[in-house]
Amino acid sequence: MSRLFLDHNATTPLKPAVKEAMVAAMELGNPSSVHAEGRAARAALEKARETLAVAFDADPSGIIFTSGGTETINTALWGMVRREKDPVKRLFISAVEHDAALNCARAIAASGRAEMEIIPVTGTGEIDTDWLVHRLQFYDAAADGPFLVAVMAANNENGVIQPIEAVRPLIFEKGGLLFVDAVQAAGKLPISFNNLQADIMAVSGHKIAGPKGVGAMFVKPGLVFEPLLQGGGQELRRRVGTENVVGICGLGAAAEAIDLEAMAALGPRRDAIEAGLRAAGIDGLRIWGEAAARTPNTLCFSAPGFTSEIQVMAMDLAGIAVSAGSACSSGKVKASHVVTALGAVEDEAVSTLRVSLGWDTPEDVAERFLTAWQEAYCRARKGQAA
Ligand code: PLP
Repeated sequence: MSRLFLDHNATTPLKPAVKEAMVAAMELGNPSSVHAEGRAARAALEKARETLAVAFDADPSGIIFTSGGTETINTALWGMVRREKDPVKRLFISAVEHDAALNCARAIAASGRAEMEIIPVTGTGEIDTDWLVHRLQFYDAAADGPFLVAVMAANNENGVIQPIEAVRPLIFEKGGLLFVDAVQAAGKLPISFNNLQADIMAVSGHKIAGPKGVGAMFVKPGLVFEPLLQGGGQELRRRVGTENVVGICGLGAAAEAIDLEAMAALGPRRDAIEAGLRAAGIDGLRIWGEAAARTPNTLCFSAPGFTSEIQVMAMDLAGIAVSAGSACSSGKVKASHVVTALGAVEDEAVSTLRVSLGWDTPEDVAERFLTAWQEAYCRARKGQAA
């Protein structure tokens, strides 16, 4: 039987149309060259920008190509605290942001350029809007300096959709800036950059069935930030270096191929897995984010006593790719800061599994997943009892 890839939140397999676009772009020239070869590359690049603008309802002039989510986040945060005029002096960042954002904010705080404050989350996995509203009500931007709020659109581990609209009016009323990491929401939920009204938004190619190492930064018209890199004049000096033409063409094709209906249809399949787990009588089962609106493809649960590492290995042997709450670059699993922020105790934190479906997930996914997982669970319990 073919393998079952249920780790789409880590990375998505390329759609065939994306591969085709990338192969076609391989021979293109340098988009900065004025000759015909260069002009062809420029045309392909601008076509991809237009496609992204349509897919995410944004002005193409505010779309900057980057190397992915991490670079966009770093450019956004460092770019706002380092800019000459009105540099940001305080970062409010949610407790469940991706490490790319949290570690960037920590580095900024350590540099002394801005203070950092963590926005707590409630047990549902959503940011504590009361906390933020209360904190901002008493924020005096004139005395304390310009501030930026960083809240992701949807979480990578549990899929929880953040209630950005609930806090946006107050952020703007207080003169703050809003950065939205939409890396996991893109391709899974409808996104309009115009309606979101964020100052900056991040999207990554490899989470929307596009290539790794490419992404986009969406900025409001006229927003000024200090670029991360110095070099030539590419991307209007906002992101210099010869553009990753192949990646950008792949990103454009991936944006064009976004199919939100197919994504929504994954919801019942995810729910069937969830229902199967609930019916299995697992001691201490916790489904993270179950009370909140979630991306339709994501399920995150803990089965105390059955460690994430063993689960991932057992499922891999059964031909199914899943991940622990969050994958660490070292390959080692550590307790995820996300479930910990939701109140997970140690036993729960170290037994978390993330199952993320995607465009190539078959209809019988719940049956296949549940059979393999329950077998592994029973084996592990027998081993413990012996
Ligand atoms: N933000 C979120 C929510 C993510 O899930 C990820 C990747 O897992 C990133 C940012 C980083 O994106 P990239 O892998 O493109 O650097």
